[in-house]
Amino acid sequence: MSQPIYNRVALIGLGLIASSMFWAIKRAGLAGEVTGYARSAETRDTARRIGLCDRVCDSADDAVDGADLVVLCVPVGVMGAVAAEISGALKPGATVSDVGSVKRNVIEQVGPHLPDGVHFVPAHPIAGTEHSGPEAGFATLFDNRWCLLVPVDGSDPDAVAKLRALWEAMGANVDEMDAEHHDLVLAVTSHAPHLIAYTMVGVADDLQRVTDGEVINYSAAGFRDFTRIAASDPTMWRDVFLTNKEATLEILGRFTEELFALQRAIRTGDGDHLHAYFTRTRAIRRGIIDAGQDTAAPNFGREPLS
Ligand code: NAP
Repeated sequence: MSQPIYNRVALIGLGLIASSMFWAIKRAGLAGEVTGYARSAETRDTARRIGLCDRVCDSADDAVDGADLVVLCVPVGVMGAVAAEISGALKPGATVSDVGSVKRNVIEQVGPHLPDGVHFVPAHPIAGTEHSGPEAGFATLFDNRWCLLVPVDGSDPDAVAKLRALWEAMGANVDEMDAEHHDLVLAVTSHAPHLIAYTMVGVADDLQRVTDGEVINYSAAGFRDFTRIAASDPTMWRDVFLTNKEATLEILGRFTEELFALQRAIRTGDGDHLHAYFTRTRAIRRGIIDAGQDTAAPNFGREPLS
């Protein structure tokens, strides 16, 4: 067990990320007490039933009262509204952070609601699954995954260092970057790929109607992997695209150009172009495995279908 890093941590929103944070905090004894709040009574009841949080509160204000660290774990689109709701209850000297998948927009939403004397240190753990809700979390979600801290102008270095220590003790590797850079990098590595997966599954679903179930029955690895990504939470992903508009559109523009180039290579029979392209992309896959961010096992490390 480590020494507690914070006396009291409040998690606002009790879904996949908050519940994983709670179990990771408990695993290493990183907080004296963890309080939690979610908007619906149903989620709060589930949290109480499964022992998620030391204390589940019926209002955000109660959860935040006396907390040294408050982490907003709600969809990106409601970060500002939640910050406004809790601003009056924040303890002077507390740190407010978030786990939102987009950073510039969240900073613009949340920053204006925080009183003087409260530190703001936005963050984004690059770890997740296609599952959501309070029962989806697990203690090892962040192990050997990256968490990006995105300090704002004037972020207190001690508050940043303490939050870094928490994420590292929850198992993550921590890096810092500015919000614009974060949003562009994530548009490439996460946001555009999700949109492409949603599109591919949508196209297959349309086709399904004329192929009489074959798309599902004979789904091969490529399509199955798309369906896993496309099963991600609709609210979360709607908000991601609406709040990281510019970077996502920039990457989708480039994607469309490349797609046309590949389409042309297929049409004209330019095998050299296709082969060279696929050789380059294969090297990226090797780089991800070498960096320990995925496994080389077939079927992406998942249990084979029985
Ligand atoms: P989730 O499992 O869908 O949980 C969201 C939680 O937020 C729920 O407990 C929900 O409460 C609560 N909530 C929604 N609106 C609220 C409001 N106005 N006030 C209070 N609580 C509210 O979501 P998640 O996957 O943990 O994602 C949370 C955040 O992490 C998002 O900003 C997302 O961008 C980011 N993130 C997600 C992933 C991922 O892969 N999932 C990875 C990294 C970062 P109810 O249950 O009562 O509706």
